[in-house]
Amino acid sequence: MATEETTAAEEEVVTYEVRGPVAVVTLNRPQYRNAQNSRMTYALDAAFTRAVDDDRVKVIVLAGNGKHFCAGHDIGTPGRDIDQTFERKAVIWWDHTDKQGVDQRLARESEVYLGMCRRWREIPKPMIAMVHGACIAGGLMLAWSCDFIVASDDAFFSDPVVRMGIPGVEYFAHPWVMNPRAAKEFLFTGDRFTAQRAHDLGMVNHVVPRAELESTVFALAERISAMPRFGLALAKKAVNQAEDLQGMRTGMDSVFGLHHAAHAHNAEVGADSLAGMDARSMRDSASSSGGGA
Ligand code: ZN
Repeated sequence: MATEETTAAEEEVVTYEVRGPVAVVTLNRPQYRNAQNSRMTYALDAAFTRAVDDDRVKVIVLAGNGKHFCAGHDIGTPGRDIDQTFERKAVIWWDHTDKQGVDQRLARESEVYLGMCRRWREIPKPMIAMVHGACIAGGLMLAWSCDFIVASDDAFFSDPVVRMGIPGVEYFAHPWVMNPRAAKEFLFTGDRFTAQRAHDLGMVNHVVPRAELESTVFALAERISAMPRFGLALAKKAVNQAEDLQGMRTGMDSVFGLHHAAHAHNAEVGADSLAGMDARSMRDSASSSGGGA
């Protein structure tokens, strides 16, 4: 299958190509293990929107360029941009950059983390996460927003944020993508779960040797592409609705409050533990650029 097109505008942090009925959206900050800055979030959103609007595209594959799928949110690269304003897409809320404290964090994380992942989960085309190497913290949020995860045998998954006093990443799907006891072990230990372990828990659909990852994903995508577009959209919505009836959406809303209580606690006691996600770092970052508190 030949690449038909790429988009120069998105090329820096996200690449987009269409191969037959499959759109491939690729995280492209390999030098930073594909750490997500806001620029990447919005580039992903633009790429996904483009794939939805293109009737030739039946399935979307989300991949990572380089050695790892995604090491999480950007907490320290030169491209970190938490103090910058972007045109908001996920929620109707005010801009965070001239706010302080919880007002600032809630605005930003509602938009670029929880809101975006929910928006992507509801994309009306099947999405396959093609995961290799590290899939950590914010990386989980991307993989979990997809319908399937196909992983290479070198992939591993971890959410270590309890070490920072935070009860899991913002898109709190843990008890739904694996069983509650496994979710507790995942959170309480911060351990890396191998692709095989994640598969055994039902979080990963298939585990294949690294060399077969792409061919497996594309074979699966081609098979799905034989189904009618609208039927796929309705089937996806049906399963998503069932998950929400099992409490996923309201559960996430409630945990988002705990998550922000933890951020606020850390800010209050001056915990230097959040590697940039805490209020102090955000404030310092904002004030050093002249745009913040
Ligand atoms: Zn957070």
